[in-house]
Amino acid sequence: MPRPAPRAPKVGFVSLGCPKALVDSERILTHLRAEGYAVAPTYDDADVVVVNTCGFIDAAIDESLDAIGEALEQNGRVIVTGCLGARPERILERHPRVLKVTGAHAYEDVIGAVHEHLPPQHDPFLDLVPPQGVKLTPRHYAYVKIAEGCNHKCSFCIIPSMRGRLASRPIDEVLRESEKLVHAGVKELLIISQDTSAYGSDLKYAGREWRGSMRETRFLDLARGLGELGAWVRLHYVYPYPHVDDVIPLMAEGKILPYLDVPFQHGSPSVLKRMKRPAHAENTLARIRAWRTTCPELVIRSTFIVGFPGETDAEFDELLAWLNEAQLDRVGCFTYSPVEGATANALPDAVPDEVKAERQARFMERAQAISAARLAKRVGTRMRVLVDRVDGALAIARGPGDAPEIDGVVRIRKGGKLAVGEFADVEITAADAYDLDARVAT
Ligand code: SF4
Repeated sequence: MPRPAPRAPKVGFVSLGCPKALVDSERILTHLRAEGYAVAPTYDDADVVVVNTCGFIDAAIDESLDAIGEALEQNGRVIVTGCLGARPERILERHPRVLKVTGAHAYEDVIGAVHEHLPPQHDPFLDLVPPQGVKLTPRHYAYVKIAEGCNHKCSFCIIPSMRGRLASRPIDEVLRESEKLVHAGVKELLIISQDTSAYGSDLKYAGREWRGSMRETRFLDLARGLGELGAWVRLHYVYPYPHVDDVIPLMAEGKILPYLDVPFQHGSPSVLKRMKRPAHAENTLARIRAWRTTCPELVIRSTFIVGFPGETDAEFDELLAWLNEAQLDRVGCFTYSPVEGATANALPDAVPDEVKAERQARFMERAQAISAARLAKRVGTRMRVLVDRVDGALAIARGPGDAPEIDGVVRIRKGGKLAVGEFADVEITAADAYDLDARVAT
């Protein structure tokens, strides 16, 4: 039976204090929204309330303690973070009922506390970030959500009915948020929405002033603007429309990362049509070839669904042939499962579970071989990487082709002197199916 559509868990937010605290609040909210949480406008609507406090002077402490008291009274489920969180005894003495106190700029901890008391709901067809989460550690990368909702009607998806039609954020707002993140130490911006390539179409590409010139609220201008901020910029959820071609030169010029996350979902035109996928009529293979001609470094990541209702052996073979031709670098694959409210539920000829599983295994075997062959070509080359973790003498980093949590890593032996969040130049020494080994370049 189809599962009922999940209701997005709702977080209320009270932000007090200085601009730095505001940036932290924005980061926490961006992160929670990227994980599918909704922001509640009132205490009554919220499942849990986060209070980001200030503890700089006595008046600010009083204001923070009062705000916590109000949230407890109005809602009852309160998580406290921010500067005053560095002195938990002050808070707990007056408000012993708070669920959790975390310290200043400990945004990983506050999100962990939200997960603990209000778990995120994962649905592979709805979520923009992977189920294991975005491990909330790093301060050096951040998700930036540029739009909410979607205008398409993919038959397996209920996002448009849950989250409404596409609502883009004006370009200056997105660029301002991104600039603040970069000033706060973020080295990599991960741009997300349900349909990044449609960005701005709902606003009729309205012009806004940014850094003294007019920019249109559209995909290309956004990519250009982000590329001027001095951080890595990674684009997710891009559909293979003709206008996407225009951003590929920015990748070739090193302005944004040569990386595209394109949720192709299938390679058979008839299945794509039944899925009602955007751009299903586009010649995607020709488009991929042209992109790689413009930017040979381009890494393409995608996700696929196998076992969609009515998927025949021939259509599945078409998908495998398409993948062989497309030579995608990074690939994930789900077996189809119905979501209540999705129109695909009414389609005939459900594929038996064992066939779905067998197709998924065959598909991933093929994808793995392609990944291994493409990574093998990197051995002996130099690469700029961003360090995510240091564990003794081993540093775990990512290159331009690796999005955090979903793609591979670059293992740097004898990388113990590197710092988390630092860029390093490395030489690739070996490759396996998904990851690379490297040493620090001399
Ligand atoms: S493009 Fe399709 S799958 Fe993606 S959010 Fe819109 S309707 Fe859902």
